[in-house]
Amino acid sequence: MSPTARLMDGSALARSIVEQAAKRATALTRQTGQAPCLATVLVGDDPASATYVRMKRARCEKAGIRSRHIALPAETTTAELVGTLTELSDDPTVHGILLQHPVGPHIDERAAFEAIAPEKDVDGVTYHSFATMSFGADGFASCTPGGILRLLDHYDVELAGKHAVVVGRSAILGKPVGMLLLGRNATVTYCHSRTADLASITRQADVLIAAVGRPRLLTGEHIKPGAVVIDAGYNPGNVGDVDFDSASGLASLITPVPGGVGPMTIATLLTQTVDAAARQLKAA
Ligand code: NAP
Repeated sequence: MSPTARLMDGSALARSIVEQAAKRATALTRQTGQAPCLATVLVGDDPASATYVRMKRARCEKAGIRSRHIALPAETTTAELVGTLTELSDDPTVHGILLQHPVGPHIDERAAFEAIAPEKDVDGVTYHSFATMSFGADGFASCTPGGILRLLDHYDVELAGKHAVVVGRSAILGKPVGMLLLGRNATVTYCHSRTADLASITRQADVLIAAVGRPRLLTGEHIKPGAVVIDAGYNPGNVGDVDFDSASGLASLITPVPGGVGPMTIATLLTQTVDAAARQLKAA
């Protein structure tokens, strides 16, 4: 690592955010007699998805958030999944809903997401959440983008007037993180698989967000000296989308993989679950 590049410690920041969420969950349970509850829905038995859900549920439990798990068989249809999510949306004892994705290719994932009530969409996957987030209105952020913004804020990264380049445009990561950066008055450029001469664009970035899913795609040749580099990628073998060794010689701040963006995603999910519970329980 160059002497100038500083690590952005997502694990440490996430720990303190989760501690805050846990305190709020305890206080809410004391006030209302009901603990915040996150429903997790898993379709099929993909081992990676099952591990993610287990991890999220374990973190919930440690933070005083109840979780209710619904495991559905791989052959579940779109209509059946929509039915389950609608029931959870109508259930007053459930405050947040997480549909682990991707779901199987035979399921209309968008239809499933849209069955989640906006006030319970703590993973920020619905059209409603994307719109409120993009307009800076009250609503839930997509968790990884929300976590990235908290990380940038914690390290006092100035965004207004800066050029932010987002590589990736998925509905849950690339697009929403660009919207949040735009909301902070950054000048945002999106890159994707059809972008010509990627390096010539990423080299203009003051803040570079890698959200691609291609191991070590972005190397030193993609990075402007002094840039802030956020690696949201998480590929098999704990490998990010950024080649850490060459990038950290140029960046001023950089996230490690693991221990950067990943823990911030879960911290955002827990925080938003407590927010959702607080709103619903206080309204009840
Ligand atoms: P995705 O849905 O597969 O989207 C990948 C995006 O990268 C697409 O927009 C694609 O462009 C673009 N892309 C692919 N190859 C490219 C290339 N060679 N040059 C430029 N752009 C390229 O993936 P995702 O769900 O957004 O996830 C991205 C990464 O983040 C993955 O490694 C995933 O594991 C990780 N992730 C981490 C967390 C976390 O909590 N840490 C959460 C979510 C995701 P097109 O649109 O043109 O196809």
